[in-house]
Amino acid sequence: MKKNITLRDFRESVAKGRKIQEIVGEYFSRIEKADPESKTYLTLNKEAALAEAKKVDLKIENGERIGSLEGAPASVKDVLCTKGLRTTAASKILDNFVPPYDATAVAQLKKEGAIILGKTNCDEFAMGGSGENSAYGVCPNPLDRERVPGGSSSGSAVAVAENLCIYSLGSDTGGSVRLPASFCGICGMKPTYGRISRYGLIAMASSLDQVGVMANDVSDIAEVLSAISGPDPMDGTSSGVAGQNFSDDFEEGVAGLTIAYNKKSIGQSDPAIAKASFEFLKKWENAGGKTENIEIPFLGEEAVACYYIITTSEVSSNMARFDSSRYGQVTRKSLEDSTNWKDFISLNRGELLGKEVKRRIIMGTFCLSSGYYDAYYAKAQAVRANIKKKLNEIFKKYPLIFTPTSPDLPFKIGERMNDPVKMYLADAFTTSANLAGIPAISIPIGETGLNGKKLSIGGQLMANAWEEKTLLRGAYWAEKILEEK
Ligand code: GLN
Repeated sequence: MKKNITLRDFRESVAKGRKIQEIVGEYFSRIEKADPESKTYLTLNKEAALAEAKKVDLKIENGERIGSLEGAPASVKDVLCTKGLRTTAASKILDNFVPPYDATAVAQLKKEGAIILGKTNCDEFAMGGSGENSAYGVCPNPLDRERVPGGSSSGSAVAVAENLCIYSLGSDTGGSVRLPASFCGICGMKPTYGRISRYGLIAMASSLDQVGVMANDVSDIAEVLSAISGPDPMDGTSSGVAGQNFSDDFEEGVAGLTIAYNKKSIGQSDPAIAKASFEFLKKWENAGGKTENIEIPFLGEEAVACYYIITTSEVSSNMARFDSSRYGQVTRKSLEDSTNWKDFISLNRGELLGKEVKRRIIMGTFCLSSGYYDAYYAKAQAVRANIKKKLNEIFKKYPLIFTPTSPDLPFKIGERMNDPVKMYLADAFTTSANLAGIPAISIPIGETGLNGKKLSIGGQLMANAWEEKTLLRGAYWAEKILEEK
């Protein structure tokens, strides 16, 4: 697999004297040269980014103190608010929305000197697993342009995989950072719930949403995570846990890192994915690590069912603010044809929201309605508590759990659009981490040929809440072991 530019490579070229302006300029020419049909970025931040680059060059020339991400070109999923830069959530309803403030995660990046190249495409309001629900069109998978890049942080994954930024911020409610990372052959991590502030992240399902990091290797993920994590008075769900260096114990190796896995659920995945997974576990053992086949309840359909009830319920409530009065633009038709407030809202929402968003609002409203609340929502909350409890028990014995990131290889664009349940089942392995609030990462573990194209296979590691250091050390060594021929 081709090697993309990492933060280390970037710093090496800066140390050799390359100007940040030149580097940033090159990123923009690559972005502009990329097929205009690719729709990886929804909005570019060219002028401001180049002006920022100039300032960084001056700072370096003057020997001033520079931040940990100083000058490094990044991108941000279009569900994170960026001050003065259009933020659409890939929805027509926010087509002209320019936030007056930065999301805390974005502000933190800027504080460390990052240069934001632009806003990346995604499923509308982060609802989806393929990128196809974007109101602006899907960006194809760079490894096979007939296939989906995975979603919902599709543009972020493609931008990282195609060298159109060094790293990207995404969001992960049920797998949206990990699934596209897996489909595009890069790394993607969601942290413990509360580790990164959600302030300025356009909410999908608030009890599950987390900002995540996507990059070309685990070290870059650790660095960016260090820069953006920590408490935030603007977010009631952010924890008091301070940011830290997540890579300072990488050199301790694989010692003590036993990986628990479930042979049966791996075996039910696509044969190429199962093969790559078992090969990875074998290599882990050969490198001195331990693995153990155990029962892991709630992987698969049960977690997906629980996740979609909770998600759609929270979506139905969070989406209420997009009524073209508080948030959202107003259509000409709604002004001409509505005679009352209710019609005004439904004409706008009818025209400006996509099919999947509407499906979820309807499903969630149903799950929360009196008479059905106990049967669906309350039951799903009980299942969620149980998933958390069971995973906690496993983590008492094992520091890491391994699963494939997805049970399936990237599917063809259009293939699952009329079968939402099949689409939802792509999340079989990823949703548990969100339901339990624990950190999880996807890294490339192999490749497979399909119709003359080489597709990437992702593997997922999970750790207990607040154990990001263990998780990242495991992922760092997994990456190293897999690189050795
Ligand atoms: N695919 C999942 C969904 O559609 C995950 C979305 C996400 O993590 N934002 O709900």
